[in-house]
Amino acid sequence: MTAVPDEFASLLSLVNSFDIEANKEELPDVAACLAWFEAHGLWLDDSFGEQDVAAVHRFREGVRVMWRAHNASGPLSANVYADINALLSGVSFHWSVDRAGVLIPAVSHRGYLAQLVTLLVSASGKPNWHRLKVCQNQLCEWAFYDQSRNQSHRWCSMTACGSRQKARRYRERQRQRGE
Ligand SMILES: [Zn+2]
Repeated sequence: MTAVPDEFASLLSLVNSFDIEANKEELPDVAACLAWFEAHGLWLDDSFGEQDVAAVHRFREGVRVMWRAHNASGPLSANVYADINALLSGVSFHWSVDRAGVLIPAVSHRGYLAQLVTLLVSASGKPNWHRLKVCQNQLCEWAFYDQSRNQSHRWCSMTACGSRQKARRYRERQRQRGE
């Protein structure tokens, strides 16, 4: 099995920092966000506060919706992107080259969003971008990298969500027949 490409690792980690099924938030506050950004080679400035934590969550959920589209039978309606689009419209940044010759976003305001957008822009230009999906089980929506040959995986794990969904559909069919 091939590993998840490095260029997607941070975004996957971000989207899965909220475990919907367990209702577990790994980035509840400024300190947790700081630790996450540092662990992923990013930085936060001193002005990062509680409302910025909420913006990180909005960005994360917007990416989740984008990956839901990768796992849908058709395009999603435009309004599901309203929140991330509103967030993105407030991000402006210019580029700068640092001393190591690396291109970096140079921002004075909400630099953390510019860094997240940079991650997203970079990842979305990669050939396997559409392999990033969220589980079709609406109670789960765990983000995963579809490693199947024909990119046909719909659930984060066949043993957990896949079999559960199949059992549910089977029960529904049985019920419909009984009516
Ligand atoms: Zn799942």
